[in-house]
Amino acid sequence: MRHYSRLRRIAGRAIMNPKWNGQFSRFDLVAKASDGMPSVVCAGGVEIGGADFVVMAGPCAVESERQLLQTAEAVAAAGARILRGGAYKPRSSPYAFQGLGLDGLKILSKARAETGLAIVTEVMGEEDVDLVAEYADLMQVGTRSMENYALLERLGGCGRPVLLKRGMTATLEEFLQSAQVIAMNGNPQIVLCERGIRTFETATRNTLDIAAVPVLKTVSRLPVIVDPSHAAGVRTLVPVLARAAAVVGADGLIVEVHPSPDQAMSDGAQSLTFRGFSDMMDDLQPYLDLRKAVQRPSPRLVAMGGMD
Ligand code: PEP
Ligand code: MN
Repeated sequence: MRHYSRLRRIAGRAIMNPKWNGQFSRFDLVAKASDGMPSVVCAGGVEIGGADFVVMAGPCAVESERQLLQTAEAVAAAGARILRGGAYKPRSSPYAFQGLGLDGLKILSKARAETGLAIVTEVMGEEDVDLVAEYADLMQVGTRSMENYALLERLGGCGRPVLLKRGMTATLEEFLQSAQVIAMNGNPQIVLCERGIRTFETATRNTLDIAAVPVLKTVSRLPVIVDPSHAAGVRTLVPVLARAAAVVGADGLIVEVHPSPDQAMSDGAQSLTFRGFSDMMDDLQPYLDLRKAVQRPSPRLVAMGGMD
């Protein structure tokens, strides 16, 4: 237990940077409330930002009913609570698979009916918001769309919570600014997702900005999850980045899983097999215990006002 209280002290010290409050306080609808209480976002009955570490998992893209249903059953059995799968895919190459569109949404909804998992899927354009909201429990905004203000504004009135991924070249200030746009348009139910940013490093697909998690948890009231798959770009790195996310206090993960990653139509190299995913979930447990220790506010810090 002694090292737990030391961890709390370290987490406490990290949140004492006076620069942040001034930098982020103008995003009042997403900033940390004066009572310090975090927001809990409810997606299809699953609470994100509460006590539980919520794992969302599934293929990058919905490819077929069989592929998605098999994956849904496997990830549910391993402990995932939300099924991911893109029906509309923002691909960098115009020649790459663009997704099944409406047919993909229908397959996702069948998987929800069969497994009880909630559904997260990407919406790329403002014109698709109403349609995607009919099928999704959580509306995903991808890294390439974080600054699509017409889309963000429409999501303000969509009636569903939003999973906002950090733009790959966005600062945390720009990230929170986008969250504020959704909130200003009527929707405070937002989950932030750190998915890696572009740096000079090429050994990984993106550079996971692990410090973004404690910074965002300090200055914002919104839940923060991590996408280790798009950060890593290779499946062997995904479990260790997932553990890192847990110990810095993330509220959950979004992870790519595929029945046969080498045949995947997108992002196979970073997708876990069913076995790889269930091993990752089993190995996470001790790190989730550490996460609880980091998240529990120390009475000393509260007395110092350090959690504001
Ligand atoms: C995805 O989740 O499959 C995806 C395209 O993610 P990102 O927008 O972070 O690249
Ligand atoms: Mn992907």
